[in-house]
Amino acid sequence: MPELPEVEVLRRSLEPRLVGDRIAGFEVRAPALREPLDPVVFERFTTGRRVEALDRRAKYLLIHLEGGATLVIHLGMSGRLTLVPGDTEVEPHEHLAFRLASGRRLRLRDPRRFGQAFALPTADLAGDRHFAHLGLEPLSPGFDGSVLARLAEGRRGPVKTFLMDARVAVGIGNIYASEALHRAGVHPSRSVARIGWARWEALAQAVIEVLSRAIAEGGTTLNDFADADGQAGYFQVSLAVYDREGEPCPRCGRAIRRTVHANRSTFYCPGCQR
Ligand SMILES: [Zn+2]
Repeated sequence: MPELPEVEVLRRSLEPRLVGDRIAGFEVRAPALREPLDPVVFERFTTGRRVEALDRRAKYLLIHLEGGATLVIHLGMSGRLTLVPGDTEVEPHEHLAFRLASGRRLRLRDPRRFGQAFALPTADLAGDRHFAHLGLEPLSPGFDGSVLARLAEGRRGPVKTFLMDARVAVGIGNIYASEALHRAGVHPSRSVARIGWARWEALAQAVIEVLSRAIAEGGTTLNDFADADGQAGYFQVSLAVYDREGEPCPRCGRAIRRTVHANRSTFYCPGCQR
């Protein structure tokens, strides 16, 4: 499943190639992905419009078009958004494609159909039901220890579950939550009610570092991400604890353990996470 770093790498890879081009038309080849694909909406908000910028909110790619419209794409579990020459053969699971004025095609393939694609006025983004409940963007200014501490006020429960709550912050998936907690030296089961300001700050910084490093690694190991073929192919990042049960902690050498929070595996070091 693509995580925030993959979507950010995709955004950075596509933006310079897409901005300035114009959407000439589209083909909807399946009635629905996770939600119905609406040709009327695509016609109204995308056809004939020039691409102005690419943005991202959580794991949604936002393709801002002229005239105050935005095309939104979510890759779901298995989606792949690629830019190909217009005469490239239509592939299986290519459920949606946008024809560009340059002659190329922006196509969305999604075998498992958990992806999403829709369009709307840019001004409606913040209040739209897909976005209204979303929490902090960890790579945007303002994400720090004090804002996490404030959000945790009056709450209980393990810090790992808190970090993964999209209403708190977006994009901290299972892998990145384990990695950030290890980096900050915070035990994943520790109650959010028992974390002081300094540790919230360390945790916020660790989240930023772990996500930023994944983006940097993804960008270098997979510079052709948007054109890549084959099954998922989402990038692997170097991990300190995740999926390393029994292996030595890279910091203190103790064997890494596995536990479970909210039905998700958590990996941590009993030596240096408290
Ligand atoms: Zn350790």
